[in-house]
Amino acid sequence: MELKKMLEYQELDREVFKLENELRQSEELKQANKVQSAFKQSQEAIVGLSSRANQRLEAIQRLEERYERVVHELDELTAESDNIQEVKEAEFYDKRLADIAKTLDALESEIITANDELKRIGGAMSNEQQRQMQYRNMYVNAKKKYDALKKSIQEKARPYVVKMAPLKKDIDPVLLERYTRVRNNKKMPVLVPYTASGGCGGCMMELSESEKGKLTAQGICECPNCGRLVYKS
Ligand SMILES: [Zn+2]
Repeated sequence: MELKKMLEYQELDREVFKLENELRQSEELKQANKVQSAFKQSQEAIVGLSSRANQRLEAIQRLEERYERVVHELDELTAESDNIQEVKEAEFYDKRLADIAKTLDALESEIITANDELKRIGGAMSNEQQRQMQYRNMYVNAKKKYDALKKSIQEKARPYVVKMAPLKKDIDPVLLERYTRVRNNKKMPVLVPYTASGGCGGCMMELSESEKGKLTAQGICECPNCGRLVYKS
């Protein structure tokens, strides 16, 4: 009696399951997922670019600090020039001056390169942000289409769901829970008949002696291969 109700329930549930599959395999869902993953990729790219920009900024700051220090050194050296009296001293002074000038030139060119790089990163970032905005709009549209399909599918499923509700009361909750567990693994039908050759009516695998024993004792057993519930009619 209970098995009969369970099978009746399953017949209705199969229709619901079919409709759910329609939604799961729909172009609408595929499109929404595709756009969402493109959006995420773009977001990751922005995070990467932003961290590169920060690194560049810090490098520029360090270079500028070094530049300041060298300029300060130059000021000090210039002040010393008043005290030069000997030729040897003057030569040494000139050499130090030339070294400092060289260092400043090198730092300046490093700063320019780093700034150029920063500008390039900024450009790439604003392109990526534009792309992200497009993906966001595309996602809003795709989600709208998906939601509309979901709603229409839920409406189609409603008559079955309404009929299933009263049947539930007559089904053992433990059996219903076992049924739901298999169903959640996207297997339908969940309940399959025991075949004449001693196997599972779902995957056709022959049942073990212990499962056959359970089947005889309880009228139902679990297929060790596919997990479906096998019943003897
Ligand atoms: Zn099986």
